[in-house]
Amino acid sequence: MLKFKPFPGEVEDLHLATLGERFDHQLNLWKSFTGYPKDTAKLHATLKRLRKEILVGDVQELRQVIDQVEAVMPDLSKYLRNRPRGKKRRPTSPMERLINQLNTVFNYALFDKKDDGWNAYKLVGKHLLRICPYCHMNHINYHMRDTRSSAALELRPPLDHFLPKSIYPYLAVSLYNLIPCCDRCNSTTIKGAKDPEQTIPHPFDDSARNMTFKVTASALTTSGITDEEYALSVTGHGAWKEFADFFHLSERYQWYLPEVQDMLGRIQTLDDSDKHIEPLIIRPLFILGFAPHEAEQRALGICLLDIAKNLGALSEPQ
Ligand SMILES: [Zn+2]
Repeated sequence: MLKFKPFPGEVEDLHLATLGERFDHQLNLWKSFTGYPKDTAKLHATLKRLRKEILVGDVQELRQVIDQVEAVMPDLSKYLRNRPRGKKRRPTSPMERLINQLNTVFNYALFDKKDDGWNAYKLVGKHLLRICPYCHMNHINYHMRDTRSSAALELRPPLDHFLPKSIYPYLAVSLYNLIPCCDRCNSTTIKGAKDPEQTIPHPFDDSARNMTFKVTASALTTSGITDEEYALSVTGHGAWKEFADFFHLSERYQWYLPEVQDMLGRIQTLDDSDKHIEPLIIRPLFILGFAPHEAEQRALGICLLDIAKNLGALSEPQ
């Protein structure tokens, strides 16, 4: 089980200061509720009251924000889930006016701009992740250009809105709703703007990630075994089962059988070696290629560590 670290405290402070100022400014400008759906004044008051929870609340708090907004205006997310497209959309309708206004208050495009202040690029640079927190297969490389060398590489992973901004526009700039992830997890095939609903854990949820990775068949005997003869299984437990299904982890991990096979080969090599001269500290490093406590910072780290543990390969042979 692994628990991913969220952002450091200084990031929360910076985020609340910058986005809070924009939020206050826009909310103060929004004085008239004529032409908006009824109960917009109540929604305005609710957003104002929940300012801190919206901007830097953890995912439980964000879900409570959704509940409170839906209690005040149940039609908003219903409308957004089935929002008319193209010419069918009437920009002057009260609901469209409200959505437009919410997009101005919670302006993700502005946060995504590269400027001198606190922005999406800097946020990604501050997070403590090397690997996609959804799939744990792919690196989420980050290279920020030094202002003095304009030719240098500038690259950041996508920021996924865990709770989609197309359905919850008031969570568009919420710190814990912005998850740096790999392009594949963020693609429309995998997550895109799909709503993870109430039951799917957030990667920074308090409960540690609870998944089991296993190879089936005679995994320890690697010689002569082809890819077809064994398979990798990924099982999520409790809510993590839905998480694993949502991100198609079982199918996607099959791609990495060669890497798993490499590790099985290393286990085999150890088992064939003189067990008496094998120090316990060398064993996990040799098998995994990284120290077990670094698993969450390595591509496939949680998969390889779990398989090796399940095979009993990390403890000293009897
Ligand atoms: Zn991913």
